[in-house]
Amino acid sequence: EKTAPTHFIRQIIERDLEAGKHGGRVHTRFPPEPNGFLHIGHAKSICLNFGLARDYNGLCNLRFDDTNPNKENVDYVKAIQEDVRWLGFDWQDRLYYASDYFEKLYGYAVELIKAGKAYVCDLSAEEIREYRGTLTEPGRESPYRNRSVEENLDLFQRFRAGEFPDGSRVLRAKIDMASPNMNMRDPTLYRIRHGVIHHQTGEEWCIYPMYDFTHPISDALEGITHSLCTLEFEDHRPLYDWVLDNISIDCHPQQIEFSRLNLEYTVMSKRKLTQLVDEGLMSGWDDPRMPTIAGLRRRGYTPASIRTFCDRIGVTKSANSVEMGMLEACIREDLDQHARRALVVLNPLKVVIENYPEGQVEMLDAPNHPKDESMGSRQLAFTRELYIDRADFREEASKKYKRLVSGGEVRLRNAYVIRCDQVIKDDSGEIVELRCSYDPDTLGANPVGRKVRGVIQWASASHGLRAEVRLYDRLFNHPAPDSDKSVDSFLEHLNPDSLQVVEAVVEPSLGQAVEGDRFQFEREGYFCVDKDSRPDHLVFNRTVTLRDTWAK
Ligand code: ATP
Ligand code: MG
Ligand code: MG
Repeated sequence: EKTAPTHFIRQIIERDLEAGKHGGRVHTRFPPEPNGFLHIGHAKSICLNFGLARDYNGLCNLRFDDTNPNKENVDYVKAIQEDVRWLGFDWQDRLYYASDYFEKLYGYAVELIKAGKAYVCDLSAEEIREYRGTLTEPGRESPYRNRSVEENLDLFQRFRAGEFPDGSRVLRAKIDMASPNMNMRDPTLYRIRHGVIHHQTGEEWCIYPMYDFTHPISDALEGITHSLCTLEFEDHRPLYDWVLDNISIDCHPQQIEFSRLNLEYTVMSKRKLTQLVDEGLMSGWDDPRMPTIAGLRRRGYTPASIRTFCDRIGVTKSANSVEMGMLEACIREDLDQHARRALVVLNPLKVVIENYPEGQVEMLDAPNHPKDESMGSRQLAFTRELYIDRADFREEASKKYKRLVSGGEVRLRNAYVIRCDQVIKDDSGEIVELRCSYDPDTLGANPVGRKVRGVIQWASASHGLRAEVRLYDRLFNHPAPDSDKSVDSFLEHLNPDSLQVVEAVVEPSLGQAVEGDRFQFEREGYFCVDKDSRPDHLVFNRTVTLRDTWAK
């Protein structure tokens, strides 16, 4: 039984397959420019392109769209491959670079010149802009528009030979200066760039093809059937089709546009992410506050949670902004099921169990997951001196407060019920220690004759381990930091409290945890071991809190 396609691109593909269009094949590509790390918006495109190939027995290429050498480098090329693989997708032997096609692209440009459909233009960039006209006014034709084919061929060869300085001339398509579509008003196809070393082709070229010329040809050369891109390219589609219709190439992929992902409280443009890194506002592209794949990975997100998110947001043509809570819900669901539980005290307050023998250590067995026995158990060390969280004690509180109060009882998770007998304060009145007693009959059993409802986490003072815990909050305090015209820069909306570092006490078993291990710190949230963590200096990142703290 066939299920209905879940979004409009699937509908198009299924119709095409039924009609035998594109030879009944599905072949997509993911075409990042290696000028930064991939972000969660790219994940949407990756899941879409690779997901369609998987679901329709097709293929998906990874292609570096590398025609803009000054901002690109091999570190980005490497990071992008790592991130696509980490997300769970595989291009197998279909890794391409648009720069692989420079020679062919040059040939197609020559073909356009010979057909009288491209010309060398000596106007400056500013003049070209001026001549282009506006949405309400047609453009003017360049005085160089009617150069002879011979002259154009000669000049274009000398372009390549390096005879002309940067910006002195460009190659333009000869289309229609009166077109209502600005992209069709004799767009630039090639520009001159001397002195840059391209990460793939070195110094071989001093002319570089523009995106609008490169992209359709790269797609066609690779036999792409459906070329998916974001909505900004909708009015570039006539140019995409024009290029392919005017050169001798058989394949004509179909460009389909969908809306880009915007996420609240963050920015997604690579230019802005680069700025955050370059200005030292973030520790790097993989800072756990960054919306990059590398940042999310370091933050503790799983590939599955990101794929689930991309499924849930769907694919449409309407621009919108997705709530951060939606991404967080995906990782919460994944970790609730798969993360080991652990007891960690983030704001330690000393507790002395006065009726517990000094020097005694009891190893208590605690299940790693309350609903999954197959995850096994670990040992907690119970000792006379412990820590509980400061937030779990009040001298006085109403009945609604289900934690520890003076004279009251509370259960220590996976251990005993204790009662607070005395509160010790320093000279300034701050509580520094609680003197308590424990009920030895309450290990795995309810106390006799009374009800104790609260349960709190704890850690042994002598056996627990010190750890640095990094608590993250939203990176910006404005839902759309880069669309607020009332400030000079999106940076003005940076949240100064996006990172808070605390010194915590963690249960002994966490001493064995290694980079990337994920846990639920009970009652606190989900955490993972950071790459900075060392056996003698444990570091954990908070991936997400237990409940949605973003809800209004
Ligand atoms: P930026 O404006 O941040 O530089 P870009 O679109 O230029 O982004 P590319 O590396 O060219 O970045 O993007 C590669 C692919 O990922 C493109 O096909 C693009 O459409 C897609 N993509 C980029 N950002 C998003 C997003 N926010 N949502 C969905 N797809 C995206
Ligand atoms: Mg791009
Ligand atoms: Mg870009």
